[in-house]
Amino acid sequence: MNVDNNRVVSITFTLTDGDGKTLDATQPGKPLDYLHGAESLLPALEKALAGKEVGESCKVSIPPREGFGELNPELIQNVPVEAFQGVDRIEPGMAFEAKGPSGEVEQVLVEAVEGDQVRINANHPLAGVTLNFDVTVVAIREADASEIEHGHVH
Ligand code: ZN
Repeated sequence: MNVDNNRVVSITFTLTDGDGKTLDATQPGKPLDYLHGAESLLPALEKALAGKEVGESCKVSIPPREGFGELNPELIQNVPVEAFQGVDRIEPGMAFEAKGPSGEVEQVLVEAVEGDQVRINANHPLAGVTLNFDVTVVAIREADASEIEHGHVH
């Protein structure tokens, strides 16, 4: 059996950025299960996995435009500290949820606090990052009808 639509695929992977720094990885004995063809993974990653059999590995390098987008400088802004009412202490590394221009909830990261100005970054944490996946297929099975209907693994 190979990786194809409507099959549940178990993979192990290591994800590194363009500098070789590890960003994410599956833990030993805990593969990631996903429903192939349901857009659970980045399209470029699913494409690379299509047709693979159990035991096969592949390396996929995904540029930012096919990953989480380029870094948008307009999403990095200084806002006055008063904008964070109800927060005792603002520190770099804190994350908040904010409503975006079209009402969607987006994650905003505090990058720096300088005086009464807070520099926030609303880019996706992986925007501008090249994603290097080293993936191994460890299991494949047919999805059942309810998994296909729901578009995810049960
Ligand atoms: Zn479900």
